[in-house]
Amino acid sequence: MTRRYTGNMNGERYLANTSRSKLEVHDLDNENTNCQINEIIQARNDKPYTSLQTAHRDGYDNCHYCIGGSGR
Ligand SMILES: [Zn+2]
Repeated sequence: MTRRYTGNMNGERYLANTSRSKLEVHDLDNENTNCQINEIIQARNDKPYTSLQTAHRDGYDNCHYCIGGSGR
């Protein structure tokens, strides 16, 4: 439940999973264990975003666990 300073992350609120089978964006201020953020970073699939809108524009969908289906 914390922002990360590892991998590509430098304290940004949102982390997108660039894995082609996922393409989801996570809110680290509302992280759920199901998000498996550490695993994403270990796989080097983490991409930082400061804005949810920007992540959406790049084609990422909301994570079901930490953001939910609305807000797009
Ligand atoms: Zn999530």
